[in-house]
Amino acid sequence: MSLISLKKVSKFYYNKNSISSGFSKINMNLDTSEFVVITGESGSGKSTLLNVISGLDSYEEGEMYINGKETSHYSEVDYEQYRRKYIGNIFQNFNLVNSYTVYQNIELVLLLNGYKRKEIRKKILNVIDMVGLTKYKNTKASKLSGGQKQRVAIARALVKETPIIVADEPTGNLDVKSAKSVMKLLSEIAKNKLVVIVTHNYEQVEEYATRKITMSDGKIIEDKKIKDSEIKESTPIEYKNITFFNKVLLGLRNTFNIKTKFILLLLVYFFLTVLVFSSYSSIRKIDHDNSFSGYNAYFKNNSVDRIIINKKDKTPFTIEEFNKLKNLKNIERVVENDLFLDISVNMSGENYDFYGPLDNINNINKVSIGRMPSNDKEIVVAGNPDDYILSNLHEAVLKDTYKIYDNDNYSINDNIKIVGIVYDKKINEYDYTLYVPNSTILSAEKLNNINRSNSELTINGKVYTDNSPSLQYKIIPKDGINNGEAIISDTFSSYCYKEKCEGTNFHLHIKNSYYEENIDFIPQIVFNQNTFNKYTGFPKDSYYDYTNAIFISNDTYNKLFLRDSYQASIFVKDVKNISDTKKELDKLGYNSHSMKDMIVNVDESIMGILRLFRVVSFVISIIVLFFISYFIIRIILKSRNIYYSIIRILGSTRVIAKNLLMLELFNDINIAYLVFLSLVFISKNDVVKIKYIKSLIEYFKFSDYIFVYVVLISMSLLISCRYSRKLFTKSALETYREES
Ligand code: ADP
Ligand code: MG
Repeated sequence: MSLISLKKVSKFYYNKNSISSGFSKINMNLDTSEFVVITGESGSGKSTLLNVISGLDSYEEGEMYINGKETSHYSEVDYEQYRRKYIGNIFQNFNLVNSYTVYQNIELVLLLNGYKRKEIRKKILNVIDMVGLTKYKNTKASKLSGGQKQRVAIARALVKETPIIVADEPTGNLDVKSAKSVMKLLSEIAKNKLVVIVTHNYEQVEEYATRKITMSDGKIIEDKKIKDSEIKESTPIEYKNITFFNKVLLGLRNTFNIKTKFILLLLVYFFLTVLVFSSYSSIRKIDHDNSFSGYNAYFKNNSVDRIIINKKDKTPFTIEEFNKLKNLKNIERVVENDLFLDISVNMSGENYDFYGPLDNINNINKVSIGRMPSNDKEIVVAGNPDDYILSNLHEAVLKDTYKIYDNDNYSINDNIKIVGIVYDKKINEYDYTLYVPNSTILSAEKLNNINRSNSELTINGKVYTDNSPSLQYKIIPKDGINNGEAIISDTFSSYCYKEKCEGTNFHLHIKNSYYEENIDFIPQIVFNQNTFNKYTGFPKDSYYDYTNAIFISNDTYNKLFLRDSYQASIFVKDVKNISDTKKELDKLGYNSHSMKDMIVNVDESIMGILRLFRVVSFVISIIVLFFISYFIIRIILKSRNIYYSIIRILGSTRVIAKNLLMLELFNDINIAYLVFLSLVFISKNDVVKIKYIKSLIEYFKFSDYIFVYVVLISMSLLISCRYSRKLFTKSALETYREES
């Protein structure tokens, strides 16, 4: 049984309009230890025959047997396996990887066939020595002479230990002297291999040949035995697949070893990274703007940097807990007993009115216009820098005198001067925050506190709730009243029935989300319109503001409403990290609600459409960027085609070649991303100011970097898949023919 047998094998080339014949009806048997020389004039079909024998090309008619097995049903994968196990190729134009050293060129074929780097070192040095190139082992292939290159190619074919070596005009590009020594070398390695050489210079190999085949016009016209050769059985070595580690190694080697290609790819990927980032940042910006424009009907201080907390066990905060909170990361300030933040008040002057939540003047230390307050009657107003009144009419605003009322028109303070204005982008246009002294906050709080609780007033055994339509009462603290006593309005008289309210027992029950409290009191005085001023000290004409008012002592009032801090607010430094801060608070045992999640957008539908629009344009720009970069990368990679066809000719499978290409691009995109990240790092830390990058990443969170990274990696993988599909649908030989 012969190693290779051809029975009436024909090869046709199908061109656009014609079919031409490579060779037709060839019969022959080839055995191990033969040194076969094929000669014949140019175009007689020698190369075609050699390519069919070495599995680089398919045939159309007849049958080729390998070790007695039919091959007509062979697929591309079968041919890959066959080439790996059986064939060592030597070409007229060497087919070396020019950017690799001699050593690396030879190493490549072994790595592709699953060897480990350590175990092949000796072997490689041995064959390099055999072909006489020890001096050049670390020289790049591109720097060698033609004869030296062909020696490397021989060493490469040799080291794989395949039973067949085919060489197509191996000396065609060499001078006479080098040609002679190359042929001698080939004959020496032929000892127990089948060597098939194509040449039109038969004299050069005459002394080594065991058999001479002459072709003409696609047919064998002469098949002559020159010498005997001992026929041996040969069993091909079973090769493994390239190891993962060596794949990565080759990927890295290929990334860097052609500098211009590396720099070009890096530039393309760097710009791709910047463009993807900038396109994504427009979505982030709109999310950011979204979160800054909204309101919540219940809470008045709607700052997006605010988190409202209480304790899971419903107990009041301790001083230690507040101190601990103040030292957490990302905390700008902690507001104990924060209820006042959600009191909105009216402040009306002669010309302008301001309505908005209160805040403590201690929380600011600088004003944009005017000055900081110096006494209890001076306050600061904060608003949006684009607010018409605050920006254009600020002189008049500062001149006016104001009164502050609560929502029920009870006066909180009067004779107020606005002495400073703060411009704050976080406040919506037409909204204001009033920075007032502590005393004003306390009086507002006292007026407001009852609104947070349900109260039940029991008079003579009959229960009235504070919002029962028949009796809406107001509880107000006042100096000069004893505990257990009260001053009430004469409008209560009808609820005391036959009895007089003076001396009747009133019972008040307060309940809110944090606590319950009961008090009893007996009204000492019932005032009417005439005695109102006498007993309360308030102007007579404000009597109608105090119908159904119950004045009680400050002590009793504080017992009811000025309690420990059950709720507090935290203002964070960086809104982007607010969810991390929330998680930390949860761990410490607090219920937390960030205002950001509780505000309702002013016009959600428009914002939603705007966001959708940005998302769609992001997706479109990713697709456009993909095709542009694919187009550019395809041009750059064209120089790599020859490499990938070489490794396939050397026995790498399509999948491995594809993986290597993927790795090459994967490294490039990672390096480009790292370069970008380091630019981000240095501009963030103000080492070098890169305004564009700074504005790009203004609204980015850690997860956004990961998202963009995943997008980029996917793009790079798609690019390499697309490219390798195009490249590898053609056979290795086709690509090779096109490129060389
Ligand atoms: P040789 O190597 O002996 O010079 P080839 O084997 O290269 O000859 O060519 C044999 C015949 O096949 C020639 O007629 C040539 O024109 C044709 N041929 C070779 N390669 C192709 C191809 N890729 N497409 C079409 N015809 C081809
Ligand atoms: Mg040829």
